[in-house]
Amino acid sequence: MLSVDEALKLVLDHAPPLPARSIPLESVLGCLLAEEVASDIDSPPHDKSIVDGYAVIASSVSQPNAVLSVLEEVTAGALPTRPVEPSTATRIMTGAPLPAGADAVVMVEKTSLEMAPSGERVTIHEPPARAGQNIVRRGTSMRRGQTVLPAGTAIRAIELGLLAEVGRESVLAIPRPRVAILATGDELVPHGQVPSAGQIRNSNGPLLAGLVRQAGGEPVELGIARDEKGDLARLVLSGLDADVLVLSGGVSAGVLDLVPQVLADLGVRQVFHKVNLKPGKPLWFGERIKADGRRTVVFGLPGNPVSSLVCFELFVRPALAKLCGVEPKGLPQIWAALAIEHQQRGDRPTFWPAKLESGELVTPLAWQGSGDLRTLAEADCLAYFPPGDRIFAAGEMVAVSLIS
Ligand code: AMP
Ligand code: MG
Repeated sequence: MLSVDEALKLVLDHAPPLPARSIPLESVLGCLLAEEVASDIDSPPHDKSIVDGYAVIASSVSQPNAVLSVLEEVTAGALPTRPVEPSTATRIMTGAPLPAGADAVVMVEKTSLEMAPSGERVTIHEPPARAGQNIVRRGTSMRRGQTVLPAGTAIRAIELGLLAEVGRESVLAIPRPRVAILATGDELVPHGQVPSAGQIRNSNGPLLAGLVRQAGGEPVELGIARDEKGDLARLVLSGLDADVLVLSGGVSAGVLDLVPQVLADLGVRQVFHKVNLKPGKPLWFGERIKADGRRTVVFGLPGNPVSSLVCFELFVRPALAKLCGVEPKGLPQIWAALAIEHQQRGDRPTFWPAKLESGELVTPLAWQGSGDLRTLAEADCLAYFPPGDRIFAAGEMVAVSLIS
């Protein structure tokens, strides 16, 4: 049976970055930029004031209490109409263009204004004014034609702002992978329904959709397929339109575990089935490449919610990162001391849902089998125990992978 590392390598080998395409700004947050972006403007577009005050010629306010007559007022968005000369000033607001002639702005707080018969006069209390003070020159932030973002930049909100400033409505970027999610099982009902005898609610659908969204993918929930070849094939086929198809359930050795057969019938090539791992051993992985070269990678996760979660964190999340053009980093790992004794059983490496306290002590949760989501809700990490029957004593150090 494949080890976790061998299986992960195979998954990543089959998940190359998606081809870049033009994506509107409102959908591109979190994506990787696939072009070099240049500015179409000088920014700021004009010499501008960075305070509310008076635009002056610095050399004309070298003495205390210089009195200047006010020519006009320029607010942000308006244009000055008159050049400033010695003995005159223009009232100017933050962001407004500097009038011709002026080379400094004095803050309004350092002035006082009076009405004279000839018009407004401003007294400058704190000379001398220094040429260039409170002014930002045209093009200081960026010049037209200058590269502002290199290809490969991860687009955060800040980059969205910058792209908007340079006039981009869309950019070439690696799209979010579309991830179809299909739960399988005759026992499942949608979570809005009350289960009858023998039934349970489909909790994996919303669980996996949430994990996909957190991992930068675009989930598309396909609902529930019956354990019947026709129904399964119909829904799998629609899922093969996506970049990734994640199935839950139906990959073990039960009589109604039809997923591997149905996938094979629909031309999905198996890359591996089963990994030496607990929980999550029945994991199935394959791909289908269409005639036009488009690829769908397919994960068949075991149906138990805890198994689904562990397989998602170990395999699906890194695959999504790679499809997004990002080098998968794996889950953040630390070492922590066991808060309680832990009995490890079995011949498979185990990733045990656990809770970390103050980043130092880790408590493996007493989950009642891999279907126990209630206990899983307390987990914030997976504690790793190597294969073999043995008691890990309280205080022993174990490797811990943090989950989001
Ligand atoms: P399977 O992998 O199909 O054998 O399912 C293993 C266990 O997980 C069974 O107890 C199922 O009832 C349960 N299970 C399967 N799919 C889901 C699901 N979508 N939501 C919750 N539990 C599930
Ligand atoms: Mg099943």
